[in-house]
Amino acid sequence: MPSSPCSLIWFRQDLRLTDNPALLAARQEGAVMAVFILDPVTERGTGAAGRWWLHHSLRALSTDLARHNIPLILVRGGALDRLFDIVHAHNITAVHWNRLYDPASIERDTAIKSALKEAGVAVQSHNAALLFEPWVPKTRTGGAYKVFSRFWKHCRNDRPAPPAPCPKVRAQDSAPVPVTESETLQDWALLPGAPDWSGGLSATWRPGEAGAWQRLETFLEARLADYAEGRDFPGRQTTSCLSPHLRFGEIGPRQILGEINRRGLSADKFLSEIGWREFAHNLLYQHPALDSVPMKPEYDTFPWIDDRQGLLAWQQGLTGYPIVDAGMRELWHTGYMHNRVRMITASFLVKDLLVAWQQGAAWFADTLVDADAANNAAGWQWVAGCGADAAPYFRIFNPVSQGEKFDPGGLYVRRWIPELAQVPDQYIHQPWTAPDPVLRDAGLTLGGTYPRPIVDHKTARDRALNALKCIKKTAS
Ligand code: FAD
Repeated sequence: MPSSPCSLIWFRQDLRLTDNPALLAARQEGAVMAVFILDPVTERGTGAAGRWWLHHSLRALSTDLARHNIPLILVRGGALDRLFDIVHAHNITAVHWNRLYDPASIERDTAIKSALKEAGVAVQSHNAALLFEPWVPKTRTGGAYKVFSRFWKHCRNDRPAPPAPCPKVRAQDSAPVPVTESETLQDWALLPGAPDWSGGLSATWRPGEAGAWQRLETFLEARLADYAEGRDFPGRQTTSCLSPHLRFGEIGPRQILGEINRRGLSADKFLSEIGWREFAHNLLYQHPALDSVPMKPEYDTFPWIDDRQGLLAWQQGLTGYPIVDAGMRELWHTGYMHNRVRMITASFLVKDLLVAWQQGAAWFADTLVDADAANNAAGWQWVAGCGADAAPYFRIFNPVSQGEKFDPGGLYVRRWIPELAQVPDQYIHQPWTAPDPVLRDAGLTLGGTYPRPIVDHKTARDRALNALKCIKKTAS
């Protein structure tokens, strides 16, 4: 006998129950089942740190859904085939999902939408990830914004939809639809095996919707007041650390905005960073090859260097520049890096080492828990000087003066590079300038316990500026 009709929510990067328009719409239709599909598009878009996060986030989601008597089916394979399996097995009459804006997801979802509709299944997609859909903010002439300040001014004058409520638990669903086809998270082996490098991640994060709200609470209560002034200082820990929660959709930007308004807080600087996230998603939507092709075409001919040793030293946090190494070690240990330090480390790779920005972006994509197709690509293109509204390439960060300005006293550097813990403040960002007795007292052997700089910054800067002249010649 066929089971009674049911709606299906297909979870993707929206792993939450509140402000989830797809879940709400499915629930309004009656009985609901939920599915998460580990398909090739999802696998390709999720690095090793992201897989760790996904495991824990799905576990939390499944527990939260169970309280609503909604079973979460976990399946692997092509999304179209897996969805049809479920549709046929469970008398599914409608499928709902929240939209994604990267090219691979758009292509997949468009094909699935038409196939399901053709098979007589109702399909509806929704917006859960952004304040405004990427096709909404338009210039006066109807084009897409290329400059952040104008884009955000436009958005600030518009009003996003309010966050959607959490669906109610319905008494008639007390016996949830029986599910037999679900795989288990263990089957998927998303967590690292031997060696298990995830200890620092577990100590730092609590994936899931409850963890996201805990972060927001802490931020609004203890950090927001110092945010505008302190957000550039990695030692001060004033930023929200909401990025992985936003990446996996455990909380949405409408909820953050709603909570700030509800508390009557003033948070312009913080909201403008949420604006950068919106802008990056816009850019990715307008430029589907954002992760690989420079937005400024002349950068296609930039003479990047294949410096494997330099890349490896950068990845391992062994460049000899303390602020760079501290950032890369924070990333390795926690799956996160402070924004100012992301800019410094990325600049060091593309300008001091002349390694192509795509190689840096690939490392970040694998190691960041917040690795995000839009933000990562936009961030790297911005630093490399080839993106929208980018810092010009010739503005080259000096890793010593950046360290001295944004980490005076070296609190951040000492936290991540214990070898440097005893180095006096005046040498902490350039230990190679310290006299031998000072190094001895600090227990530091350059080239032994900590490397000497792998490049001389002044020489590297001149080399980068010469490389830039090359592309200018090619372009003219
Ligand atoms: P907060 O300062 O508290 O900001 C709140 C939220 O706003 C963030 O969680 C994030 O969603 C958004 N946001 C803040 N700054 C930016 C920005 N510059 N661009 C886009 N969104 C922003 N962010 C990612 O989420 N994923 C990435 O893969 C990523 N890769 C980056 C790569 C490079 C080279 C650079 C320079 C930046 C990258 N960023 C990325 C942006 C930024 O560094 C992080 O979003 C931020 O550090 C996250 O910390 P937070 O949550 O404490 O930020």
